[in-house]
Amino acid sequence: MAKDKTHMNLAFIGHVDHGKSTLVGHLLLLEGAIAEQQLDDGEDKFRFVMDKLGEERERGVTIDLAHAKFETQKYEYTVVDCPGHRDFVKNMITGASQADAAVLVVAANDGIMPQTKEHIFLSKTLGINQLIIAINKMDVVDYSEDKYNELKDEISKLIASVGFKPSEVPFIPVSAFEGDNITEKSSNTPWYKGNTLVQELDALDEPDKPVDLPLRLPIQDVYSITGVGTVPVGRVETGVLNTAENIAFEPAGVTGEVKSIEMHHEILDKAEPGDNVGFNVRGVGKNDVKRGDVAGTTKNPPTVAKEFKAQIVVLQHPGVITVGYTPVFHAHTAQIACTFLSLDVKLDPATGQPKEENPDFLKTGDAALVTIKPTKPMVIENIKEIPHMGRFAIRDMGQTVAAGMCIDITD
Ligand code: GDP
Repeated sequence: MAKDKTHMNLAFIGHVDHGKSTLVGHLLLLEGAIAEQQLDDGEDKFRFVMDKLGEERERGVTIDLAHAKFETQKYEYTVVDCPGHRDFVKNMITGASQADAAVLVVAANDGIMPQTKEHIFLSKTLGINQLIIAINKMDVVDYSEDKYNELKDEISKLIASVGFKPSEVPFIPVSAFEGDNITEKSSNTPWYKGNTLVQELDALDEPDKPVDLPLRLPIQDVYSITGVGTVPVGRVETGVLNTAENIAFEPAGVTGEVKSIEMHHEILDKAEPGDNVGFNVRGVGKNDVKRGDVAGTTKNPPTVAKEFKAQIVVLQHPGVITVGYTPVFHAHTAQIACTFLSLDVKLDPATGQPKEENPDFLKTGDAALVTIKPTKPMVIENIKEIPHMGRFAIRDMGQTVAAGMCIDITD
């Protein structure tokens, strides 16, 4: 793989059986990331590639990432987990697999289905702002232009309702199985004048580096290194970390001056968003900071919330969420039990429009505005001010039960 290409994380979303795995498998093959011999024989040969990756992920085996990577002219892509997979939401939120863009797969014969809507809303909630729509299984509808246009109109309305601009979102008629319009324009769709999927992937915007936002560096680990001292380690989410700058760790409440910054054994003057660094701060000891704390500058320290308002979507909850429920919230590197103080407004999960004031409970599939009280101080930011630090996953009983974003800090 060429080293100089910008890296992008790509998610494939859409209703079950609409062809996400088949599309990924075919794309990897056509882009040369896997060889024909690696495919099994038979009808579902492309799908097996992703199934195999999926199984390995489920077993917790480290996958050979080369299989889930491919290149376009401009970018090197890694395919991140699809929302169907268990920890997709948590990984997206904690940044482990934050997707820079998503391909929404909608089967032309089925049209918009419940998970199509859910995944569009969830993508917005998780901060995916770039979308490509693949209208799949065009072979099943005889490559009908009318069918394509009809579905394009319906999907445009749906994505507009959650805040995407349909005019900026490319639509492509494809057959994941036959390979139409994936890397080459297909003669089966002479009426289609747009780009192939790969051309559209190449035309996505580069993920922006939020250097102009305040510094936020969630701490992943804290090491003691002989000759250096205490070294907190983490990835810069926003802003710039500079040597000789005064830093505040919250909610720990300790401050100090940055003595040195290191990345991959090299000394740096400064670190930018995306950089995984270790840094040493004068006067800060091993027990003063821990995983879940966030570093910012003393001039603009991280926000410690005692109470906040949030918009959430309930993904899979075996029971109901009521006032008083106290599951664990995962935000950046922090894991903190938080109590639902009030359920304020139930929202339409497909559009985010208000549906009901003060509902008695929330169940799987519901979206709502709620008020949350962390059981101890927690760093979280208003999504409108520092989007990268405003999201959280709610975990309970070993699974991600809900996802959300902080929309207001009230205490
Ligand atoms: P996923 O659940 O969204 O990942 O869907 P899969 O990729 O597993 O596909 C579901 C089924 O649809 C499989 O049997 C595929 O072979 C089939 N399929 C996927 N894409 C196409 C397509 O473009 N044309 C046809 N005819 N079948 C497809």
